[in-house]
Amino acid sequence: MQKIDYTGYIENIHKPDPSNTSSSQKQSTIDLANLWKLVKEHLRLKSDDKRLFAWFKTANLEKFQNGKATISVANSYHKEWIETLHADMIKDSIMQITGISPEIVVDIKSALTARPKYEYHNPSEDSPSQTSFDDIATTTRGGNTRSSHLNPRYTLQNFVIGSNNQIAVAVAKNIIKTPGHAYNPLFVYGPSGVGKTHLMQAIGNEIMKHDPKFVVTYVEIETFMNEMIESIRKQSTDEFRKKYRDTDMLLIDDIQFISSKEKTKEELFNTFNTLYQKNKQIIIASDKSPQEIENLPDRLKTRFMGGMVIDMHLPDYETRLAIIKQRLRDKKAHLSTEVQEYIAKNIEGSVRELEGAVNKVISTQEILGKQMPIDDIGKLLHLDVDSKRKRISPDQIMDAVCQTFDITKAEIKGKRRTAYIAASRQVAMYLLRKDLEYPLEKIAHLVNRKDHTTVLHAYEKIESLINEDKDFAAKVENVRSKYML
Ligand code: ADP
Ligand code: MG
Repeated sequence: MQKIDYTGYIENIHKPDPSNTSSSQKQSTIDLANLWKLVKEHLRLKSDDKRLFAWFKTANLEKFQNGKATISVANSYHKEWIETLHADMIKDSIMQITGISPEIVVDIKSALTARPKYEYHNPSEDSPSQTSFDDIATTTRGGNTRSSHLNPRYTLQNFVIGSNNQIAVAVAKNIIKTPGHAYNPLFVYGPSGVGKTHLMQAIGNEIMKHDPKFVVTYVEIETFMNEMIESIRKQSTDEFRKKYRDTDMLLIDDIQFISSKEKTKEELFNTFNTLYQKNKQIIIASDKSPQEIENLPDRLKTRFMGGMVIDMHLPDYETRLAIIKQRLRDKKAHLSTEVQEYIAKNIEGSVRELEGAVNKVISTQEILGKQMPIDDIGKLLHLDVDSKRKRISPDQIMDAVCQTFDITKAEIKGKRRTAYIAASRQVAMYLLRKDLEYPLEKIAHLVNRKDHTTVLHAYEKIESLINEDKDFAAKVENVRSKYML
């Protein structure tokens, strides 16, 4: 039985003494820092909740005394989340490392707490889905209304809330109530098809529903750049600027595609500043975090990170099932509960993939004029899975590992051997072998290892960990869902 080796780590740190009150201040600081580092590594390995990692960057273990572990966080929002969702995991983790099961106390570090508390969106409380956009007559690409470029299909009422997006929705509701206040700018990022565009447009649609005078401007960064270039050519830059600066809310989508051209960056920066100074709400969506966007200038990165940064995830089973049901309601279509559950169970990728699968089954059944047995549906959907599998590249696997474990490719290929990085690297080797059936030598080469026995060892170790530890198995499945579907 092989376990990930924390013992090496643990032995090298001084165990905190829970009864220690004031003895050696310096010593206890070192202990706490190390202990906290271990707790974080532990959780990263066990949990798929990436928000956890984002928050842990600002959270700290302040005290570990008298059976109490006091964690400081940046605001009430983090406090509530850690208390309601992660306290038990932190407790278990400290217990495993130190042998002491502490009471977890979460304190707020600074006055950042002035932010209003978020609320959960409960679709049943809202009025039934109805949009008042019929009067905005002309539509353009994708059914967007010309005035704001918002697609009226994207509403909060038909946005299913799950653990993968509930913070994003809570923040969205807050922005709807008081745009330009607490969460400005809002930067939402996550893999393709998790609902970023839907959510950001839903915010715009919702505000406009209650306040038709409120001007919302939605634009994909590519369009923004093209219009800018065009305006220079036509000598109409004033008009261009007016469009994006005379708005109450600017939604910029897919900012990862920002070009490297200085002029575009400059224009975006100035647009941002003008709006920000006027307390106008800015929402940005991206498939990468601000730090990861290559062409994003540092000064914009800093500004984005100074607002609210939220990552959205792939939905879990319950959410997938709820999305399927929502989709069927929208399309006024029917699928048996068994089929719905089968799809939710087997299609673990993005919401876009899920919708694709639902549509495929509905239309195939329509063509056949009868309900399909589950086996046939399996074949219908597995066909896709198999053909996708053939197209998977080692890079996609590495990217999925990096994304899930929150590490870089350089770390996978590098020499560092912290338990966490080593385990993540082993997962990469395992998946390259398992899903691509690559030869051991080739895998060793890909992860910059000399010896193919390292790969074999990694494979066996991860396989046995998957069998023993269901949290870990779920995490590996999560990596896989990022490239399999
Ligand atoms: P992204 O911008 O993250 O790539 P989209 O917003 O385009 O993703 O979402 C992809 C599709 O999935 C859209 O049709 C959207 O309506 C749907 N979708 C995503 N998340 C949800 C959700 N939570 N509830 C209902 N539909 C969703
Ligand atoms: Mg999008």
